[in-house]
Amino acid sequence: AYEGILRRQSSRESAARTYARSLPIVPVRARGLTIEGADGRRYLDCLSGAGSLALGHNHPVVLEAIRSVLDSGAPLHVLDLATPVKDAFTDELFATLPRGLAESGRIQFCSPAGTDAVEAAFKLVRTATGRDGLLAFTGAYHGMTEGALAASGGASGVRVTRLPYPQDYRCPFGVGGEDGARLAARWTESLLDDPKSGVRRPAGMIVEPVQGEGGVLPAPDGWLRRMRELTAERSIPLIADEVQTGVGRTGAFWAVGHSGIEPDVMVLSKAIGGSLPLAVIVYREALDAWQPGDHAGTFRGNQLAMAAGAATLRYVRENGLAGRAAALGGRILDRLRRLAGEYDCIGEVRGAGLMIGIEFVEPEDGAGSVARAQGVAAAGDEAGLTVCSEAGPEGGGVPAPGTRVGPAEGPPPGTGRGPGLDGPLPA
Ligand code: PMP
Repeated sequence: AYEGILRRQSSRESAARTYARSLPIVPVRARGLTIEGADGRRYLDCLSGAGSLALGHNHPVVLEAIRSVLDSGAPLHVLDLATPVKDAFTDELFATLPRGLAESGRIQFCSPAGTDAVEAAFKLVRTATGRDGLLAFTGAYHGMTEGALAASGGASGVRVTRLPYPQDYRCPFGVGGEDGARLAARWTESLLDDPKSGVRRPAGMIVEPVQGEGGVLPAPDGWLRRMRELTAERSIPLIADEVQTGVGRTGAFWAVGHSGIEPDVMVLSKAIGGSLPLAVIVYREALDAWQPGDHAGTFRGNQLAMAAGAATLRYVRENGLAGRAAALGGRILDRLRRLAGEYDCIGEVRGAGLMIGIEFVEPEDGAGSVARAQGVAAAGDEAGLTVCSEAGPEGGGVPAPGTRVGPAEGPPPGTGRGPGLDGPLPA
């Protein structure tokens, strides 16, 4: 039966399947960190539902919350009607938000995936500002629908200007550290101030406080604060995509907490549904320009997801699990960094809290090595770990560390356009 399931699904499903291609597992039971395959093998599940399982699989408080809805006779699907379950979820969520949003923010329930909420955020800021055009960053990932894809570097009709996201290891300016972050901020500032750039008054800026799919890159706190200042001074709504970073994973309940910034819009999904599909945006009241019917979607009222999500948010908050992620993550980072000192195929180990990535490289030239990462993932499978490898920023082809993809000095940049950076350069 086990072989048959694998065979039938691989012949009927599209070639776009990803995890199933590298992991020939048919999970039939799960608890905590462990999943058990139909063949009886047990795995430590490092995929963690792509970051949606803040409490692991089938946590008792989550199961209990789902059961209590099922046993109560409450409707499971209610579009966007008001319900006690939704009320409890919203209360729990608002108790965790940055202060301004918690006190007077608005919430919009979206179709239940992160990418839907990203689209909603784009539509919201375009409606509220009456402006067009968006700012996004190199290496970003915001989802698979048209607008979200455009912000992630894909082709689409949505006009997105790509700005440099700072990082040490493959600094777009070849300098790294605080200098690299300062250059990245100057690049953005000069683009916004240049009348000829055409991007002076975009509808919004979207940023991941820790880039996930782009290679686990925590934004430097000072840089993120600068992005907040630059956007606030110009009345450009700042959208924080916390789809992947939320609910304690990075060592703060929301990753914007590390820098202390308060975004105008937060895009939330994955773990907020306690392993079931749920996505929302929360935003400043002043942006609430929508009229009734302006944003709809059939599955905005999933009561099981809201109950599972409320239980998860409460458990993480009451048990201080963000702090625990910070402590455990620190220990894991230390251990992995020691390994990086021993193995020259490990380029860098980085992360925040328990959101941690290991970058594999070719020792000869330091170029990113998809093959080595895949080799490690395959060895993980043998050892009973489900691990995934990503091709890296922009889907692979990452340059060697220190490779300049932008001018190395003398901001504002204006001497040449670096790969991955679009939009007119500042004069
Ligand atoms: N934003 C970020 C930061 C993400 O990591 C993801 C998913 N990996 C998305 C948006 C899209 O979410 P979904 O896959 O639920 O559409």
